[in-house]
Amino acid sequence: MSIHVSRMLTCAVLLTLGVTSASPAFGQEINLYTTREPGLMKPLMDGFTTATGIKVNSIFVKDGLSERVAAEGAQSPADVLMTVDIGNLIDLVEKGLAQPVQSPVLEQAIPANLRGKDNQWFTLSTRARVLYAAKDLKLTSFTYEELADPKWKGRVCIRAGQHPYNTALFAAYLAKHGEARTEQWLRGIKANLARKATGGDRDVARDILGGICDIGIGNSYYVGLMRSGSGGAEQKKWGEGIDVVLPTFDGGGTLVNISGAAIARHSPNRAAAQRFLEYLVSDDAQRIYAEMNYEHPVKPDAPIHPIISALGPLKVDPLPLTEIARLRATASKLVDKVGFDQ
Ligand code: FE
Repeated sequence: MSIHVSRMLTCAVLLTLGVTSASPAFGQEINLYTTREPGLMKPLMDGFTTATGIKVNSIFVKDGLSERVAAEGAQSPADVLMTVDIGNLIDLVEKGLAQPVQSPVLEQAIPANLRGKDNQWFTLSTRARVLYAAKDLKLTSFTYEELADPKWKGRVCIRAGQHPYNTALFAAYLAKHGEARTEQWLRGIKANLARKATGGDRDVARDILGGICDIGIGNSYYVGLMRSGSGGAEQKKWGEGIDVVLPTFDGGGTLVNISGAAIARHSPNRAAAQRFLEYLVSDDAQRIYAEMNYEHPVKPDAPIHPIISALGPLKVDPLPLTEIARLRATASKLVDKVGFDQ
């Protein structure tokens, strides 16, 4: 079959399905390197292909995304680099693995503080670092500072201090309180731990339900993943067995981190890569972020999943994300210094 005929057939099939697209790009492809779970990525990739005709080849890179792209150098097939945590995104930029993107669509959809000044990285969704608590405590408010209060001795669960979710929290604390007070705070939390700082955020909910601890820290979207039952019946019990409080810094707001993406420095399919980023801030894609992964869409007016809005109004801490990224190395050093993960 000639390419011409097969294209006509593809068009016919898409028309039969009622799919419309401004400018279909049959035969085009992009290569996506992502640290994000394939389960979340699939509906986003499928939605993009339906809208544009551009195929997405995704490579799931669990660890070492920047190292891999750096090692591939100018020959790298990567077009779009997608990951979580401000530190990881800034890392891509600082290692020269990203490139600036001039896009009115991205600039309009994404608030200025949630993209790089030079437009080399873009936030696609946000997530809060929240408190999971035993129901009988009936907690309605909490500050991150309180995690070190001796009244919680032997009652706190948390994942490894060296995990990016926690180094970001500790870096925010550094920005607010300085190094000496942060070290003291980390020693206080360490002294309050009910068990070794390890496992995942969902294990905190499991261990509160199991009576091992009373409070702990986890990301907001895991509450949705657990309570919705999308992680199975066991996790649904964990999610429903805890209360969730949106903690704040003393006199500040709740810590929010991001998921985002950049276009690779040596992207071979540059224009299609930009269309993919622009699709990810469309109403359809933003709905997928909220519905499939219970994240806060980056677009200010996009709807939030009811399980997440039920956690209460989110007052985002005003500290710039770049400050958190800048201080993450110091935070990581302090984690080792106090033996947080030992
Ligand atoms: Fe996560």
